[in-house]
Amino acid sequence: MSALAPGSVIGILGGGQLGRMLAMEAAALGFDVHIYTPEEDSPAARVSARVTVAAYDDAVALAAFARDVAVVTTEFENVPAATAEILIASGAVVHPNPRALALAQDRVAEKQLFASLGIATAPFAVVDTREDLAGALHTIGAPSILKTRRLGYDGKGQARIASLGEADEAFASIGEAPAILEGFCAFEREVSVVAARGIDGSFAAYDLVQNIHQNGILARTIAPAPGAAAIADAANAMTQRLAEALNYVGVITLELFVMPDGALLANEMAPRVHNSGHWTMDACGASQFEQHIRAIAGWPLASTTRLCDAEMQNLIGADADAWQTLSADPNARLHLYGKRDALPGRKMGHVTRLKP
Ligand code: AMP
Repeated sequence: MSALAPGSVIGILGGGQLGRMLAMEAAALGFDVHIYTPEEDSPAARVSARVTVAAYDDAVALAAFARDVAVVTTEFENVPAATAEILIASGAVVHPNPRALALAQDRVAEKQLFASLGIATAPFAVVDTREDLAGALHTIGAPSILKTRRLGYDGKGQARIASLGEADEAFASIGEAPAILEGFCAFEREVSVVAARGIDGSFAAYDLVQNIHQNGILARTIAPAPGAAAIADAANAMTQRLAEALNYVGVITLELFVMPDGALLANEMAPRVHNSGHWTMDACGASQFEQHIRAIAGWPLASTTRLCDAEMQNLIGADADAWQTLSADPNARLHLYGKRDALPGRKMGHVTRLKP
């Protein structure tokens, strides 16, 4: 694909805040955006030129969407595989490719891919039945974490198992869904790489960042991660290997645990822009959103140089009510997602504090 000219239409599956921030950066580069989402009045649709509100299995609406756009991307990884297939069959170019989406949707396939690429992970075992879980606990031991293979996010669909006697209760708590059992990693901290691979195979990573979670949800990101110099090259090399193996185009994120001995264990990948990359909007020359649009449009990747240190704080639920105070802080860059209801646990916005 040659580089898409400004004025082309970029299609985005999903209408959440990631789609919204992608759409705003696409507009800044002269593209029009067409959002496809089942949600009425979505945050992304309200800043985009066009919107289709339809289900992800609506073949007629998908075919019309495919005809309208020059390239399709996605703002969340749980787009049904069949959706991407219908789009491709209708002639659409889809980045990232459906294989990358499918692998990221299944925690077992994802961990097996990491293993095949020599990327270390926590020990893991496949759990489909109670008997599997008993066997897996025998091998992996406790403490461990039972996670649904599919559709888990922000700590949902997970149960910790502190001792072997808790197995049945844990399996019941995740609805006895197909699962993966992972050994518990007593990590020192969590870090992530947000990087991009271009259509020409070029690769560029932002600085390694440290992530602090509360109640299973990202609370803060520190850029750069303290002590990054010792581990960033290894973390970037893992991410590049992964992106190349997937023939990936766009922004990709790899979440890693840093163990007390400095070893890096991959937890999960996200085939998209990521919450831990939001700081790049204010502290880098080009944000992760611009970078993703550049990559899928076949443009050269932008520089990922960090212009200053930064710390990103998510505004969750009622946190965003403090917008007046936050907006008065000259070092704080406030981003609100235009969501109508501040439900508990819902990401309403974020604030990045620059540390020049
Ligand atoms: P995940 O949905 O897999 O990203 O897990 C959410 C969070 O749970 C991670 O960011 C970690 O804080 C924690 N976690 C997940 N897997 C493990 C593990 N194997 N060992 C220790 N903590 C974990």
